[in-house]
Amino acid sequence: MVKICCLGAGYVGGPTMAVIALKCPDVEVCVVDISVARINAWNSDQLPIYEPGLDDVVKQCRGRNLFFSNDIEKHVAEADIIFVSVNTPTKTRGLGAGKAADLTYWESAARMIADVAKSDKIVVEKSTVPVKTAEAIEKILTHNSKGIKFQILSNPEFLAEGTAIEDLFMPDRVLIGGRETPEGQKAVKALKDVYAHWVPEDRILTTNLWSAELSKLAANAFLAQRISSVNAISALCEATGANVAEVAYAVGKDSRIGPRFLNASVGFGGSCFQKDILNLVYICECNGLPEVANYWKQVIKINDYQKSRFVNRVVSSMFNTVSGKKIAVLGFAFKKDTGDTRETAAIDVCKGLLGDKAKISIYDPQVTEDQIQRDLAMNKFDWDHPIHLQPMSPSAVKQVSVTWDAYEATKGAHGICILTEWDEFKTLDYKKIYDSMQKPAFLFDGRNVIDAEKMREIGFIVYSIGKPLDPWLKDMPAVA
Ligand code: NAD
Repeated sequence: MVKICCLGAGYVGGPTMAVIALKCPDVEVCVVDISVARINAWNSDQLPIYEPGLDDVVKQCRGRNLFFSNDIEKHVAEADIIFVSVNTPTKTRGLGAGKAADLTYWESAARMIADVAKSDKIVVEKSTVPVKTAEAIEKILTHNSKGIKFQILSNPEFLAEGTAIEDLFMPDRVLIGGRETPEGQKAVKALKDVYAHWVPEDRILTTNLWSAELSKLAANAFLAQRISSVNAISALCEATGANVAEVAYAVGKDSRIGPRFLNASVGFGGSCFQKDILNLVYICECNGLPEVANYWKQVIKINDYQKSRFVNRVVSSMFNTVSGKKIAVLGFAFKKDTGDTRETAAIDVCKGLLGDKAKISIYDPQVTEDQIQRDLAMNKFDWDHPIHLQPMSPSAVKQVSVTWDAYEATKGAHGICILTEWDEFKTLDYKKIYDSMQKPAFLFDGRNVIDAEKMREIGFIVYSIGKPLDPWLKDMPAVA
């Protein structure tokens, strides 16, 4: 029986390995992590991450050929294939701070593998890493080994949170990069055989190591660039009276462009897009390509601009101040169907409103108060570093309250900001909400999920990203 061990039981390691175990009953999969709390949660009925369909997959194979453990060294020593899916956050200090990937976790994982391995291993980069990381990892492994052979593969993950199980069941493609030597190609084949249990062969792409590593960064940069492009157009739509939904629809009908990832919003979030683009920018700079670096940097700049533009719109609409006013925030996760708040646009929007002394009341169906307080108390880029892995008492942000009820959050509020596109926000009783709010009642839709005309009929003053403005908003000071 082939034995797989995965280091890192997070948003990628957990679901990916669960699906491999489900689809490959002849493979034993053990997911290990340094976090005891995370492993305990994976072994309980309350999994550590919310992902539609995940519970069902885990229930089917946990205890059969899927195991979760903190006994890292034992499972690494026994494995034939080791996936490394640890976090690779943005560096917060030192060389490349604020841009380069922090490979501390990766490097310590590689050193540990070298120390405990007693037989040949295939080591698979599942984490998103800078180009040429495999070369560094190879050096660590081979310099520490006692005649043991390691083959490094790059197998970046393309799943999207919220649809992870669906994406893993039917991936657009699986990408495997390996050395172009006979041993390298043998390792590629071994990993290919695992995926071939359920992925059609023509969807399993093989490349050299560097192409696979770079493809992941490039794919995320392209996706984020589409969002920043449509968001840039949304600002122009508001200035001109065009409707971004109509523009995006017309643009996306062009088969060369396609309709996906063209929804204007308050800005992209998630643990990957910003981190991976910053990493790409850093790699370009290190390779003497400042023009290319600046090109990609602009994608992040537009994203930051979109978030601050939204905050400015809220404040300027409400008589240029939100000081002491209750603002209800509906949705805190970075997108619907996940409880993940990493780099969510809601953090920057809330911080912007708090900077103007608003009182914020937040409701998200999947995010706890503890998590929200943590996110708002933390500095940029700190969230994915060791401090985040330890239990930590949140220093509560006093002007923020969190509730499990949208009606409670909006009661007595001057304005509402919708920051996540949860389906349930489309069907709330907005008449009831309007009646319970201060007047004039403002509704700022950062995800374009509500029917603005219906809301106007109720009496709301509505702002929808990239849509023609209410006369009220037009009369307010211009938004930069
Ligand atoms: P995560 O923070 O949810 O999980 C990483 C886990 O690794 C943590 O539980 C941490 O405790 C553990 N860990 C750290 N060092 C370890 C070690 N030495 N040994 C064992 N465990 C260790 O992160 P994630 O979202 O799963 O992302 C993991 C990687 O995959 C990142 O490089 C990320 O960029 C990439 N990725 C993420 C997504 C996504 O949607 N989240 C998608 C594709 C790729």
